Amino acid sequence: MEIKKIPVAPIGANCYIVSEKENAFIIDPGGDADCIIKATENLKVKGIMLTHTHFDHIGALNDLVQAFPGIEIEVPELESDWLFDPELNLSALFDGGFVFKGKVTKLLSDKAVENFLSGYKIHIIHTPGHTPGSTCFYINQSDDETADCKNPVLFSGDTLFRNSIGRTDFPGGDGRKIIESIKNKLLILPDETVVYPGHDENTSIAMEKKFNPFLKHYSVTS
Ligand SMILES: [Zn+2]
Repeated sequence: MEIKKIPVAPIGANCYIVSEKENAFIIDPGGDADCIIKATENLKVKGIMLTHTHFDHIGALNDLVQAFPGIEIEVPELESDWLFDPELNLSALFDGGFVFKGKVTKLLSDKAVENFLSGYKIHIIHTPGHTPGSTCFYINQSDDETADCKNPVLFSGDTLFRNSIGRTDFPGGDGRKIIESIKNKLLILPDETVVYPGHDENTSIAMEKKFNPFLKHYSVTS
């Protein structure tokens, strides 16, 4: 599996292109559609998955729907309406008012599994807190999220960052829920899981258990 990370306009959110052989999917195309399209040359792009629907994670959607007709658009089930509401997706405040002109083809719900890449399972983990629908994608090679697999990865959106966590002061944010989501649903993943967040640098589950100041009351048992 190959992962390309592209920090995109307007504020440098991380867009990811995840591929296995010729098949690929895109996570959080926040802007710079041209760069994203160029980075998918020679790949068969099957879908776009959103960790949540803030403006900086969705801004290139309209251009990508044009570039990849018939592509799957998969959105956390609690936020599909937000794509059409500039107040909720915050684009009214920061980026001129984004309204999605395409169609959502799949609502992502907790514990569902997506199969864009052969040999890999994309586990949908609902992690409310930054927004009500915030969702992480955990990829391993098993139908079982807890199975011991080689090189697991987590795309953590704006829920978990290196040494930090997502803001909870936007509409629908919840400071108690984000901590619960991280502790109960992310820190239980294998220590070696590489974490690809929605902003800034990669990290790992082990590093965040040890060093994340927002999670310092987590008791490390291993
Ligand atoms: Zn956000």
